[in-house]
Amino acid sequence: MALGVTKNKRIFDELLETCKHNLPSVDEAMLKKAFELSYDAHKNDFRASGEPYFNHPYEVAMIVAKEIPLDDISVISALLHDVVEDTEIDISLIAKEFGKEVAEIVDGVTKMGGVFKGQEITQAENYRKMLLSMVKDVRVILVKFADRLHNMRTLEFVNPDKQRRIARETLEIYAPFAHRFGLARVKWELEDLSFKYLNKEAYDDLARKIKNKRRERESYINKFNTPVIDKLKEHGLKFEISGRPKHLYSIYRKMIKRNKPFEEIYDLFAVRIILESNDSNECYYVLGIINQIYIPVPDRFKDYVSIPKTNNYQSIHTTVIGPEGKLVEVQIRTRKMHEVAEKGVAAHWKYKENKFTSDAELEEWVNWIRDVFENASKDEASKEILASFKLNLYQDEIYVFTPKGDLRRLPVNSTPVDFAFEIHSKVGYHCIGAKVNGKIVPLDTILHSGDQVEIITSKNQHPNRSWAMFVTTHKSKAAIRRWINKEEEQLIQSGKELWEKKVKKMKLSFNSDDTIKLAKSLKFDGSGQLFKAIAQEKVNLDEVLAPKKENEAKSSVPELEFDSFANIARTDIGGILVDGKSENVMYSFAKCCNPIPGDPIVGYITIGEGIKIHRKTCDDLINIVKKGENRLVPVQWPTVDSNLFVAGLTIVGEDVPGILKDISHSITSYQNTNIKSVNILANNSMFKGTITLYVRNLEHLSRIIERLKKNKGIYTVERFDSTNLV
Ligand code: MN
Repeated sequence: MALGVTKNKRIFDELLETCKHNLPSVDEAMLKKAFELSYDAHKNDFRASGEPYFNHPYEVAMIVAKEIPLDDISVISALLHDVVEDTEIDISLIAKEFGKEVAEIVDGVTKMGGVFKGQEITQAENYRKMLLSMVKDVRVILVKFADRLHNMRTLEFVNPDKQRRIARETLEIYAPFAHRFGLARVKWELEDLSFKYLNKEAYDDLARKIKNKRRERESYINKFNTPVIDKLKEHGLKFEISGRPKHLYSIYRKMIKRNKPFEEIYDLFAVRIILESNDSNECYYVLGIINQIYIPVPDRFKDYVSIPKTNNYQSIHTTVIGPEGKLVEVQIRTRKMHEVAEKGVAAHWKYKENKFTSDAELEEWVNWIRDVFENASKDEASKEILASFKLNLYQDEIYVFTPKGDLRRLPVNSTPVDFAFEIHSKVGYHCIGAKVNGKIVPLDTILHSGDQVEIITSKNQHPNRSWAMFVTTHKSKAAIRRWINKEEEQLIQSGKELWEKKVKKMKLSFNSDDTIKLAKSLKFDGSGQLFKAIAQEKVNLDEVLAPKKENEAKSSVPELEFDSFANIARTDIGGILVDGKSENVMYSFAKCCNPIPGDPIVGYITIGEGIKIHRKTCDDLINIVKKGENRLVPVQWPTVDSNLFVAGLTIVGEDVPGILKDISHSITSYQNTNIKSVNILANNSMFKGTITLYVRNLEHLSRIIERLKKNKGIYTVERFDSTNLV
């Protein structure tokens, strides 16, 4: 406080006194520190009026302390509200010196101010919600109101263009906002000041007329009030009575709305009685007294005491016929009701005395705040309790601008792609890039409230699979999924066409089962995925189909198929009996001889791998036994010679009509058994395939083989056995 020490001391003391008078407690040292820091930071700056810039934060702090008093934190934040934006001082310094709360409020006020720059206000309600989505502390809004109020009071010094822009913003955003907040006096003043700059002619005209009528009006109000005052005093009541000030803008609005001249609107007199009592019943008592003096007008009575307005406004309104037959509206309320009406949220807080005696009370406060903003609350499900000043209204949504200044609401964590789909699905589908606040950004950038977003599109661009990883809205998720599915369908279809052409050209024959098998052997999840890979050229058809052709020429079956057959046959028979018992012994089938049900078998006890099951005729086994190690154990197929088991045949022949019928006839009628599966592959004039069927024993199988060989056109029939594989 080097310069103007005396003056600074005087104005600081004034602020301190105001705080002490209006606030529950004051951290004097902290207030002084904020005062000095703000003074120093702004000391080289001047306002449009030419006065030192510091006057502005100081006056804003005074408004907070005097007109919407809440707590010392708000006043300190008001002193500092412009230092981060306008000076070298960093928000981290504020946090360090004044604590996190003050830093958050200052930061919030700065951000709120930035939102309107260069934007035309088209959707006022959305603007208000957007502001709320950015605000986490009620006090941010209070400081912002005070800031705006002081700027409006000193608006005469800026240029006319700016005057109009600020006035319009104030009228459309801040005044209704203040109303929602229950700040009636702030609202009226903001409206009147806006009115003054937006329609100077009408404002001046109205101001002149009111001035001319003032004396007349005052004498009438006196005439009306005198008997009322006498009677109230007679009843021993403490009260304040006033001719309620009429606000220019509200008169003007009524004139427009009702299409009536000034005189008619203005002749509706209004009187307000404020009772110095905490007993709301006294309001009704006073109402009775008024009605004894003047005749009430029916249907004009409103009881907001028992049913408060959504912004917690409480008062009794009644209209009576006064002297000379003129209508007079009388408002009756207690001091507390009046404070809440004038100072809204701040007064509400004051009467709470900074503490809640129960959870229910805290919840009531929270719900009230909610109602203030929502008016009619849509959010009935949400009942979580907010701590002290914390707001989390609209915190799950953001509001961003289109290049034309329209506001779009999106969920938190939305990206430019979400925004693009929000505009139109076509914009989403062809979105190739985005600009946020004029800068090109990646498509997965997280958007914030107040961002202006521009989407760059290209006809050739299509959704990218990776978009699904970062989009947030249901709309964009669904659209991307739809596009991917459609793209996939198209790929599958064109892959299938390529496949069919190739198969035909190579003179191969594939039924749908064959195709699925091939797909699985190539590790695809079904034939669709195989076709897709073909379309994407991830699969070389010549390579895939070449071995198939080779195998056919050798008229044998791929090894894989024998393995799965062996598996089926071994499982179907129900495992192995070791030493005559079905014990829980670890065993496996030897790869050298691949025994399958029907084969005479023997077990060989290995070290570490349990029992290996070999055919009794296995050469490898014979060699092991020759070395003299006798570790053989008797094993058996459980059902051989008593029940049916699965066996297989490989069959090659001429592809003539009716051949399949002949084959199945031979098996089922002559040998009286059942076929389990048939897998026949026709190629040119030849066919070959495998048949699995149920047999009693190997003799039974031999008879079936002999019977089949007798059919015309059949070349070879063999037991399906690893030893028959090429
Ligand atoms: Mn400011």
